[in-house]
This record gives sequence, C-alpha cells and structure tokens, in this order.
Amino acid sequence: MKLSDRIQNIVTGGDDGWSVFYRARALRDAGHPIIELTMGEHDIGTDRAILDAMHESGLAGHTGYSLVPGMPELRAAVAARLQERTGVPTGSENVVITPGGQAALFAAHAAACDPGDAALFIDPYYATYPGTIRAVGATPRPVRVRAEDGFRPQRADLEATAGPDARSLLINSPNNPTGAVYDRATLEEIAGVCQDRDLWLISDEVYDTQVWEGDHISPRSLDGMAGRTLVVGSMSKSHAMTGSRVGWVAGPAEAIHAIGDLATHNTYGIPPFIQRAALFALGRGTEPEQQVAEPFRRRRSIVLRALDGQRAITASPIDGAMYAMLDVRATGMTGLDFANGLLDAEQIGVMPGESFGQGGAGHIRVAMTVEDSRLEEALGRIVAYAEGLMAARTA
Ligand code: PLP
Repeated sequence: MKLSDRIQNIVTGGDDGWSVFYRARALRDAGHPIIELTMGEHDIGTDRAILDAMHESGLAGHTGYSLVPGMPELRAAVAARLQERTGVPTGSENVVITPGGQAALFAAHAAACDPGDAALFIDPYYATYPGTIRAVGATPRPVRVRAEDGFRPQRADLEATAGPDARSLLINSPNNPTGAVYDRATLEEIAGVCQDRDLWLISDEVYDTQVWEGDHISPRSLDGMAGRTLVVGSMSKSHAMTGSRVGWVAGPAEAIHAIGDLATHNTYGIPPFIQRAALFALGRGTEPEQQVAEPFRRRRSIVLRALDGQRAITASPIDGAMYAMLDVRATGMTGLDFANGLLDAEQIGVMPGESFGQGGAGHIRVAMTVEDSRLEEALGRIVAYAEGLMAARTA
C-alpha cells in the first residue's frame, strides 16, 4: 500500500553525516574503546529523588488517563517558573504539557503553519527541525548563519529568506549545536522581523538552564512579542530527564487551547506519574538545575584550555548548552572528513558540523558529555590530530 507523501517525506535521503555517529556506535558495541562525544545526553541519570517521586506516584494509583493539556498543578508550576524568569504574566492557560520538547516543536509548528506555508529555521540547526516542519505539512526554509557572526542570525538574512509565504521562524538560544546565546540586540532584531512580516516566533529554550556567558533572554518578554511567541521547553536537559519525555509549549491562551485539541487527537496526554515526578522536580527550585548544569560549565573550561595556544582549531564562543562547535577548516578538511578520520585514527566519535546543515560545514560538534578526564584526554588527541593534518598540509 502506498504511504502518504507527507509521512514519506519527513526524512529526506542522504546520511547528512550521521554515518559517523552510527559507525562510532557500532565500533563501541564491538568492544573498541571509543570515546563518544556525539549525543546530547548527560552522563548522569535522573536524580534518585525524582525517580522515587515517580515510583511513589505510580504506587499511589496515578496510573490512569490524565487531563490532556497536563495536570493543572504542573501547568501552574511551569507557568510560575516562566513568569519568574521572564517577567511575562503567565498562567496555566498559557501552558500545555507535551511529551518532551520534540512534541512541543511539532505542536508549535502545527499551530503556526498551514500545509504549504514556509517555516523558517536557523542553519546550523538541531537535527529534527526540518523533519518536524515537513511532518506538519509545511516547507522548511533555512536561514544560514555564519561562524564569523558568532552563529547569530542577521536581520538582512532573515528578511531576504522570509519571502511572502513564511508563517513562522524557529530559533534556539542557547543553541544546539553552536553554543551561541543570543543577546538582547539580536533578539530585538529577530522580534522586529517577526512583527514586520507577521511571523510566529517559535523559541526553543530547552537549554535555558545552561548559560555560561551573558543571560538567557526569552524573546517572549520583548515588547509586543508575547502574543506571537510560542516557547518550547523541556525537563530533558534541565533535570536530566531525557527519557521521561516531559516538556511544554507556552504562549497565548488561544494557541495553547488549540494545541490541547491537537493533543487530544494525538498523544492524549502524559502519564500522570511522570507529571507528578516533574512537579516534584520543579518544586525543588533552581539548585538541582544548577547541579545538573555544573559539569558542562566545568567542561567548557577544559575545552577552552585544551584549545589554548594552537592554531589548527578555532572554537566558536561556547556561551551555553553542552556542546563545543569547533572550526577545523584550517586543516583543509570538511567536518565530515575530519570526523571520519578522527574516528579511524583516534577512536573518538564527534558529529560533523554538516550533520546540522550547511551552516555547520567545516566544523565538528563535540558533546561535553563524558567525564572530565576523558574529555580532557579526547581534546588533547583531537588537537594533536588537527595539528598533524595542518602540518602535512603546509609541508
Ligand atoms: N531542542 C533542542 C535544541 C534539542 O537539542 C533537543 C534535544 O536534544 C530538543 C529540542 C528535544 O528535547 P526533548 O524532546 O528531549 O525535550
């Protein structure tokens, strides 16, 4: 039987550099001592106290259907967290709970775009973005950003790419894969374009607790933006709860209500014992979030130290999130060739920048998700490998 065009076109052909990831996994599974710096997942599990809350909640009988847009207490807790951090008046009616940030990205685009509309996103991008846009029937349209601009979007590029058919713009700060944190001036330019072009702004803020330089500013808090911004949030990165699948969309009440209708016909809500665990986790305040983020702050310094005093690799500022985007163009290699060569020569797995779009070409992304001493060792070997390539090139 023929499948719908829509579902068949979610993923386009080509490996986009993901073959390096799969090769590293296969080598590791075959017993090779691979240092994997590929996936954006913490090297710690979910905190025991959160798991206990989940367990107790299940045993207490919270195992049935829950209200589809989310438990009222959890919606209220997320709303309070957002209001406290952004100053934007936010109530439960502005929050719908979703199975992770990914489902929130899907729901936000479903709310913003009709089939055939163009949906803008920043390139380099988190791997699922174009497929998520295609999954709602819209057309993904990348806005390229450059390492030379700190991977921050420029107004002229946004305007040139928008055209007459764009309905939404998806941004992500702190950013995966680049580590960029957008400053107020950048966000104001983005907001200006959204207002001029009447675009929804979909703001993926799943790394909001991982900021090493500057401040996290939610564009929902900028003048005139609360009515056209859909914030995507998640407990995955902030609380090391990737497997629990709990996130949210925050935005205008009418949009949130409509996303609730979508959820009724799609997910039918989130397991109540997961929501209660999430509520427990949020109730513990910011200290546990800081503890989850702390290793990445430390490892960022390890990366910067390792790169000091060499010329083969240039790091983009690692202002936030758990990744270092390293420019390897001085070696004469593409990101893909460098990553493949590194895996073969040094048994270190990194993501080629090209796997995040053409904006990532000539880069590799290092996930700072292994323990400090292994990261330090890996960085030493990455630098030595790059220096070897550069020396061979200039010999
Ligand atoms: N957005 C970005 C930028 C991400 O890096 C990720 C996960 O890596 C997600 C969204 C989705 O996270 P989750 O669905 O686990 O909340």
